Amino acid sequence: ATPTALLVGTGRGAQLGIIIKGPQVLESTRKVDTVVLDKTGTVTTGTMTLLDVVPADGENADEVLRTAGALENASEHPIARAVADGAASRLGALPKADDFRNVEGLGVQGMVDGRAVLVGRPRLLEEWSQKLPSSLVVAMERAEAQGRTAVVVSWDGAARGVLVVADAIKATSPAAVERLRGLGLTPILLTGDNEATAASVAREVGIGAVVAEVLPADKVDVVKRLQAQGKVVAMVGDGVNDAAALAQADLGLAMGTGTDVAIEASDLTLVRGDLHAAADAIRLSRRTLATIK
Ligand code: ADP
Ligand code: MG
Repeated sequence: ATPTALLVGTGRGAQLGIIIKGPQVLESTRKVDTVVLDKTGTVTTGTMTLLDVVPADGENADEVLRTAGALENASEHPIARAVADGAASRLGALPKADDFRNVEGLGVQGMVDGRAVLVGRPRLLEEWSQKLPSSLVVAMERAEAQGRTAVVVSWDGAARGVLVVADAIKATSPAAVERLRGLGLTPILLTGDNEATAASVAREVGIGAVVAEVLPADKVDVVKRLQAQGKVVAMVGDGVNDAAALAQADLGLAMGTGTDVAIEASDLTLVRGDLHAAADAIRLSRRTLATIK
């Protein structure tokens, strides 16, 4: 390979807002045929807002929101930010939570006003043998069918309500996905979020394949499984959760707006945090390689 052509390629990359870890990275892009896209923060903005509070029968919406907001105040998760900010702006000062614990990929738990509180996926409640009343199941299903994310709030052993948050799809995502397809790549949406929300987002951006409800530690296995099927995999992600999968992928692309851990684990950084840069990067490195041949 001509080092000069590779360096020209990487210089053009910098102009396009793509930071390439080293010239050897260009070689990895040649055979890539599958692109795994993390949903939250990659395809969507990752900034969520609180849209709705649905109390269980006999519960009070403000009480549900206040209790959940107090607990989520201790978490950095995008859902937590939406809940805590929504609660503070509607209700003012929130109580302090004690014994806060993050349960990876499922939610949070802790004590608020002497109550043992859970906020997260229904599966988190199941782990404590708690049931979801049918009114809340219906509220969750309705929200998820619209591409929104719903989480359950429980305290003292019983589900008390559902909170609905939504994350906007980046305006550039549908066109960027179309370009990735045009480059011969099959896009797959990967997320810890539920099937219905993931399917709705996938439909809106034009992705045909979805792997949902994946625990953070299992994202890397999704990449390994595709590789075992003979796929050459690019992965685009932004979160701490995505680092192992980014490192495992044949080509790891991190959103520049994402976490340092994701950036360190990847081969390419997309400075603008926009999926068009993923298409630019793959096109650029293929062209650079064509120049060399
Ligand atoms: P993603 O892969 O989409 O970035 P995560 O693995 O971070 O998602 O989270 C998966 C799911 O776990 C969320 O959709 C939510 O239902 C639940 N969850 C995780 N953290 C929290 C939290 N702090 N509050 C409420 N729910 C949470
Ligand atoms: Mg993410």
